[in-house]
Amino acid sequence: MAPVALITGASRGIGRSIALRLARDGYTVVVNYRADERAAKDTAQILQALGADGMLCQADVTDEQAVRRMVAAVEKAYGRIDLLVNNAGTAEQALFTDLTTASWGAMMDVHVNAAFYTCSAVLPGMIRRKSGNVVNIASMWGQVGASCEVHYSTAKAALIGMTKALAKEVAPSGIRVNAVAPGAIDTAMMAGFSEEDRRAIAEETPLGRLGKPEDVAAAVSFLASTDAAFITGQVIAPNGGLVI
Ligand code: NAP
Repeated sequence: MAPVALITGASRGIGRSIALRLARDGYTVVVNYRADERAAKDTAQILQALGADGMLCQADVTDEQAVRRMVAAVEKAYGRIDLLVNNAGTAEQALFTDLTTASWGAMMDVHVNAAFYTCSAVLPGMIRRKSGNVVNIASMWGQVGASCEVHYSTAKAALIGMTKALAKEVAPSGIRVNAVAPGAIDTAMMAGFSEEDRRAIAEETPLGRLGKPEDVAAAVSFLASTDAAFITGQVIAPNGGLVI
């Protein structure tokens, strides 16, 4: 039976690319999305064209009960979840002094609390089977901090901390937990950047370009594979050398 991967926020961008890569790797792919049903259906169509098995699951990952329902539906359909990729996320640029309690909380909700909800729902099955894999999509800003993105940087740093601590706790159960910390990746999340800003980031990047969603998907594919069987609690950084 094909292994089963649940990818949060897979309607577009990095999540969609991870879904396609894992389908090519032989996974049954569960595509989670929150609101963009049209984009999620497009992802599903591409997966179908690849001959991959899978399903679409609408759920807001900041809603604990919705996450529990989603995981239960996947386990009912396929009996197991072998790989959880916590990818759903949002970004916002604002001065720290302009941040509200609501925007601070929303950033913690989607990056940190959501990963707690998904891991809490998925890990019991993995622990029972004594095998499983979790990959958290963090960010280089969680490693070095970004001006005007203090809440985002804090949330991603927390996700990296969670990755390391959880990796230690569940390793004896045969489960690996790792993070991917991408640099600047060319997705809708960068839509707010002007052409000039994008060129400047590419020039500042030692490898001379913005990242592609496929660059992140390749790192996830590696971490999920048996080639990474001795790797846990680590942060892999597809960032073109922007942060070393
Ligand atoms: P994106 O194109 O904006 O896609 C974000 C995805 O997350 C969408 O599928 C969206 O679904 C989903 N999502 C957002 N909130 C959700 C929620 N509450 N519940 C379920 N799904 C939700 O962004 P991206 O660039 O692919 O980013 C993916 C991940 O990579 C994020 O965690 C981001 O922080 C991280 N990252 C991105 C970059 C970059 O430069 N792009 C760099 C480092 C890290 P809906 O449209 O349905 O809401």
